[in-house]
Amino acid sequence: KRGYDITRNPHLNKGMAFTLEERLQLGIHGLLPPCFLSQDVQVLRVMKSYETRSNPLDKYIHTTDLERLTSPTSSCMANIQYKAHVNLTVFFSSRGLFITIHDKGHIASMLNSWPEENIKAIVVTDGERILGLGDLGSYGMGIPVGKLALYTACGGVPPQQCLPVLLDVGTDNQNLLDDPLYIGLKHKRVRGKEYDDLIDEFMQAVTDKYGMNCLIQFEDFANSNAFRILNKYRNHYCTFNDDIQGTASVAVAGVLAALKITKNKLSDHKFVFQGAGEAALGIAHLMIMAMAKEGVPHAEAVKRIWMVDSKGLIVKGRSHLNHEKEEFAQDHPHIKTLEEVVETIKPTAIIGVAAISGAFTEKIIKTMATFNERPIIFALSNPTSKAECTAEQCYTLTEGRGIFASGSPFKKVTLADGRSFYPGQGNNAYVFPGVALGVIACGVRHISDNIFLTTAEAISDMVTEEHLAEGRLYPPLKTIREVSFKIAVKIVDHAYKQGIASWYPEPKDKEAFILSQVYNSDYDSFTLDSYSWPKDAMTVQ
Ligand code: NAP
Ligand code: MN
Repeated sequence: KRGYDITRNPHLNKGMAFTLEERLQLGIHGLLPPCFLSQDVQVLRVMKSYETRSNPLDKYIHTTDLERLTSPTSSCMANIQYKAHVNLTVFFSSRGLFITIHDKGHIASMLNSWPEENIKAIVVTDGERILGLGDLGSYGMGIPVGKLALYTACGGVPPQQCLPVLLDVGTDNQNLLDDPLYIGLKHKRVRGKEYDDLIDEFMQAVTDKYGMNCLIQFEDFANSNAFRILNKYRNHYCTFNDDIQGTASVAVAGVLAALKITKNKLSDHKFVFQGAGEAALGIAHLMIMAMAKEGVPHAEAVKRIWMVDSKGLIVKGRSHLNHEKEEFAQDHPHIKTLEEVVETIKPTAIIGVAAISGAFTEKIIKTMATFNERPIIFALSNPTSKAECTAEQCYTLTEGRGIFASGSPFKKVTLADGRSFYPGQGNNAYVFPGVALGVIACGVRHISDNIFLTTAEAISDMVTEEHLAEGRLYPPLKTIREVSFKIAVKIVDHAYKQGIASWYPEPKDKEAFILSQVYNSDYDSFTLDSYSWPKDAMTVQ
């Protein structure tokens, strides 16, 4: 046996104990986290993980790992092992490809470790800004794996066409560097030219192997790399950055839905962003595009967007401004805190994307409710622990007038007077699966911001008066497959109109065209195409 099969065979799989030499020889390099752990240390890892599990199924799954890792006589596990009869290896089974800075020059051959050949979509991270949690190094693999699971579950992209990738260039997270059980490279992050060359080689290698139409989604890169990489590749590859563009799309969708409540135009609003990073700048740019559609010139649109970063309000001449923030620097004296900004600027909407939990204080929410009949309050930071305020805080402090959306889910809120609200979840899961399905279906060559505005409009079009009455700014999450499908149809339509599709002839029935590509979990038939001719014609003469 060779390659991927080895990692599926409990008798042969040594997990992270395979040496680099073995990994290369066996064709499994990249299928395992980029670190080498002895059997004993692996047992320790699984034991530690076992102890943290409370539910019996989780515990059981862990015993199967231990079974693989320990000899049947090993005393520590003998007890539990008796209960485990199945040789499953879950823990170290290959769920994505790990490519490291030390693999430079060899990415093309590493791709051959992956058991599937026909890859249509890649989600890649370098683990530096995982959710609002920061640098998780190689542990970031969960993100591309999870995002691609949503490609399939929500978008219907076949799972075998999806490849999760983690680029390990080291980590600046000292806790990980100090942890003997950490699974990634144990040095500080490599930056600069060496890093850029790795990304370059990666882009080249995957498109050489899977074609220029292979969709490459960048996910959870830190700010300083995210914008650079996006600008460098957006017009050369089929690529987008979900944290910038996907977030923008879902946030603008929420705002467009909110306009159905406030019954006015986007350009009638004044937005204050808490945060001026990937999410904030992405949303702001898409808003400017949407305002342009209302006929508002760029310079006028910018005046309606105010940003607060870690140094306070972004104003002209302030220090600590990069090129991206400069565009939104207002002609105004500097203000330090968000509370003062809200009091002074009097926005109609506040959008939280700084991963500072509780940033929307009671005072801020109440202030918003004093000068707005229907204040728009979006607490978009993830995970739930980082949300700027809870749904309950928003609805209670605004007496049910707040138009609320959050990045992470919040339960239905019932106020003392009996009114109930279902908070909208402004999560880019509404966006990227449908975008991916549409883009892959017709082979969009480059993904423009227009596609994300089209998507935002498509999502808000699906929000009905009944949804709005319940507080929802997005179609219910349970309809997400339908939402993704409709987005894909809109994108395919748009792509042929704009001449950016690459599959010709243009399909007449776009819905049927996409449906034919949607993943179906029904079993395939394994019989060959067998048939017979009329009897007479088959008779041997
Ligand atoms: P990012 O690029 O690192 O930006 C973070 C921004 O927050 C930076 O501008 C930073 O200021 C600012 N900030 C930090 N501390 C602050 C403070 N005390 N007061 C005001 N601003 C502060 O990160 P990002 O990609 O934009 O993501 C930010 C958050 O949005 C994360 O929690 C992420 O999970 C969430 N998000 C949600 C979704 C969704 O679908 N709902 C999508 C993407 C991201 P400086 O520029 O001064 O450093
Ligand atoms: Mn993300």
